[in-house]
Amino acid sequence: MTKYISILGSTGSIGRSALSIFEKKKTFKLNLLSANSNKKIIIYQIRKYKPKYFVITDYFIYKKIRDKFNNKKTKILNNFENLNFKKKTDITISAIPGITGLKPTLNMIRFSKKILIANKESIICGWNLIQNSSIKYKTKIIPVDSEHFSILMLLKNHQMKEIKKIFITASGGPFLNYDTRKFKSIKPSDALRHPTWKMGRKITIDSSTLMNKIFELIEARKLFNIPQDKLDILIHPESLVHAIIQFKNGLTKFLYHETSMLIPLANAIFENNLIIENFYKNKKILKKKIDNLTFQKVNRKTFPIISIKDKIFKYPSTSIIINAANEILVDQFLRKKIPFLTISKTIVSILNGRNYKKYAIRKPKNIKEIIQIDYWAREYTLKFLKNHD
Ligand code: NDP
Ligand code: MG
Repeated sequence: MTKYISILGSTGSIGRSALSIFEKKKTFKLNLLSANSNKKIIIYQIRKYKPKYFVITDYFIYKKIRDKFNNKKTKILNNFENLNFKKKTDITISAIPGITGLKPTLNMIRFSKKILIANKESIICGWNLIQNSSIKYKTKIIPVDSEHFSILMLLKNHQMKEIKKIFITASGGPFLNYDTRKFKSIKPSDALRHPTWKMGRKITIDSSTLMNKIFELIEARKLFNIPQDKLDILIHPESLVHAIIQFKNGLTKFLYHETSMLIPLANAIFENNLIIENFYKNKKILKKKIDNLTFQKVNRKTFPIISIKDKIFKYPSTSIIINAANEILVDQFLRKKIPFLTISKTIVSILNGRNYKKYAIRKPKNIKEIIQIDYWAREYTLKFLKNHD
């Protein structure tokens, strides 16, 4: 039976991994693809996949491509606002990074039977809206961030009261064993060299500061309603075990899979009908690899951001504020405007100050109210940087 697919962020790391799965089966038809400005890949994808719609958010690139593909099979759009599908999309992949991904994700919930969410920032900033909308439109939500997909699998047939602790693992990124005296001179190119995962730029920087794990704690709490004191982080440089659950009965379960997003994606796409060998060639699990799994506590000197761990759940909108501040800081670091350590230092300072409380205590009821808090935090972060130059 034909299945209709939409991908938000189809030119990115997650988007292209998902496409490599969908292109293997003729019964998948592409309804909608979307990107921002990567002209070369957008043109390649229009030609190769002939989606019904391609949303291009950068206006300049949109106009160029619209003119080029005028009268062709694919309708080129500049935004998600006026979408109206006659039939629901069977599977939507949400993979636009940052809070920018929230609105398109909310837009697609009403047109989708199932959404696979990679865009963790939309979960940490707008989970209430996503959840309410998914209930209203009967849309199934599956997280595909590897740790959260693992937790979802591990929690099957269990209740929260049986659980003592849930650990999400972190590779530690490129600076795990770096001399902290050298942190001052870290360049974007150093931070973009992730040892185990190939991902987009923003999440790669978030992995190098460990901010990605702070986000993932929030993501886990929101998705599964896990009490804060049951959640923790463990460094696991091999990136093969993604989540560990300790039960009160003395048993501990963990989920192991090769370091590839194809595995959570393919399992979430096919659920119980997956013959995984068709979509992912499992490299032989070497005994050596199993014997050498290592786990360690987070070192506070290497990852100063860990000091905010106990503050992130204090107020309802703390997560929106740290996400916005982090988006600004990562962008500034990538443009070589601020040093690497300033990312963590600034976020720690913002959460140690009093100014953010006024916004952090708000409980936004709609996207407009979320954007107001996000906007305030962005402005505040930029001002903060100016004053601490
Ligand atoms: P990439 O940077 O590789 O890709 C981003 C995609 O979103 C591209 O298609 C890009 O288009 C599009 N995009 C970027 N900015 C905008 C914008 N302003 N408006 C519309 N579209 C935009 O990111 P990843 O695939 O690595 O990550 C996607 C999400 O998934 C993130 O939230 C990340 O945290 C999460 N995630 C990623 C993992 C991974 O392995 N990559 C693992 C777990 C979670 P263009 O190419 O034209 O710029
Ligand atoms: Mg992850």
